[in-house]
Amino acid sequence: MYDSILVPTDGSDTAQAAVEHALDHAKRYNAALHTLSVVEKPPMDEAAGQKVLESLEKTGERAIQDAVDAAEATNIGAAEGGVATGSPYQVIVKHVETNGIDLVVMGTHGRSGLDRYLLGSVTEKAVRSAPVPVLTVGADPGD
Ligand code: ATP
Ligand code: MN
Repeated sequence: MYDSILVPTDGSDTAQAAVEHALDHAKRYNAALHTLSVVEKPPMDEAAGQKVLESLEKTGERAIQDAVDAAEATNIGAAEGGVATGSPYQVIVKHVETNGIDLVVMGTHGRSGLDRYLLGSVTEKAVRSAPVPVLTVGADPGD
């Protein structure tokens, strides 16, 4: 059923909970695991924007590293992925289309974590526009 699973991460605890679920699905379906962290270009002038962009890229790299470490700690092998730039949900949907992804696993919320909304905006848009099923994972209620 699933050959390639994508878990987009912003490094939040909820995204990391999604990584755990993605790993389990990858194991059960013997699927490849992709991970992706998207950096949005800050709306600032060049000089200030560059500094913020660099720090966001570092956060993205750490998020990817957490997912890759979690994959390596299981016997499914490795997750492949990296940091990309653009509008997060658009990059996620594009990655689905161009890499033959057949399942997306992502958190209900992310770094902004406004849980008065049912879903964060990236997840909501991904659910609306992805051509494949999106499995949403909430944070552990104990967190
Ligand atoms: P909002 O961003 O709408 O203020 P939020 O941060 O709580 O709210 P989302 O950004 O939708 O919620 O995050 C939900 C999930 O989407 C995360 O757990 C993660 O799986 C994924 N996600 C969010 N942002 C990114 C990103 N920049 N790159 C990759 N995945 C992301
Ligand atoms: Mn967010």
